[in-house]
This record gives sequence, structure tokens and C-alpha cells, in this order.
Amino acid sequence: MDVTSFGINHDVLLRGIYVSRKDIINDGILTTFDIRMKEPNREPVMDTSVMHTLEHLMAVYFRSNNEWADKTIYIGPMGCRTGMYAIFKGDLEPHNIIEKMKECYQYIINFKGEIPATKSYMCGNYLDHNLVITQIECKKFYDEILMNIKEENMVYPKQQY
Ligand SMILES: [Zn+2]
Repeated sequence: MDVTSFGINHDVLLRGIYVSRKDIINDGILTTFDIRMKEPNREPVMDTSVMHTLEHLMAVYFRSNNEWADKTIYIGPMGCRTGMYAIFKGDLEPHNIIEKMKECYQYIINFKGEIPATKSYMCGNYLDHNLVITQIECKKFYDEILMNIKEENMVYPKQQY
């Protein structure tokens, strides 16, 4: 089984935006990014309601963006609740998405009103959302990492076997 992210040493992972894998599909490339908002096993993970609200708002942001809608394949939560996966068309690196991701986090931080697609017929667990804490988590990640992102927040350390 080749799951690229299992080969990364999670004991030393920092927060950031990382390429987790690239897949060749027909004649194109899909790039999977880890949007790592928590240091694995070293700080508390996000609440499931926060993961869920992040999923809704991040997906809406990218799927309604003129430039990125067609490139956006998938946005979803990591099962470990330390961050999000984002899969885009193209052979991409973190610097290709960092400005767009910063805009996305600003959109979430400033979002007001009803979270999109939170009617019972649109969502599998429509009451399980938390906008306030999602915005706190996003602002923390934005201020502490995205605003002044460094090399170590964009290149994963490899596992030593
Ligand atoms: Zn939902």
C-alpha cells in the first residue's frame, strides 16, 4: 500500500501548506495539499463541528472562485482533525496556492450569516457546525503561519527508515 502521507514523520511536522502527493490521471496531474492547521500529537486537534464548517466554507470559496472552480477536485477534512485536504488539477507547489489560500482564510474569518448548505436536505449532519470557533481557529492559523509563511511550513520532513 502506498499512502504517501504515512511515510512522513508526523512527530516533527509543523503547521503549514504542504504537497502530500501528486497523481497522474490520463495526461494530467492532480496535486493533493495538506493544509495542516495543528501540529500532530503536540497540540489539541480541532472539534468535529469546526472541521465540518471548514469543509463547507472552504469548498464554497474555491468552487465559486472564477479562477479555481474548474481546478478544484476535492476539499475535505483530515480524519485526525489536524487539518484539511485540498486536491487541485495541475502540477502545483505551495507557492502556487498560498495567496489564494490566504484569501480563503480571510473569507472564512470575515464570514457572516448562515453557513452555506446547512439545511437538513443539503448536509449529512446539518446541526454539527460552529462558525465562531472555526473563525478563531482560522484567524490563529492565518496570523501565526499563513501571514508570514516560511520554508519549513511548506516542505515536509521525510520519514527515516
Ligand atoms: Zn455538511
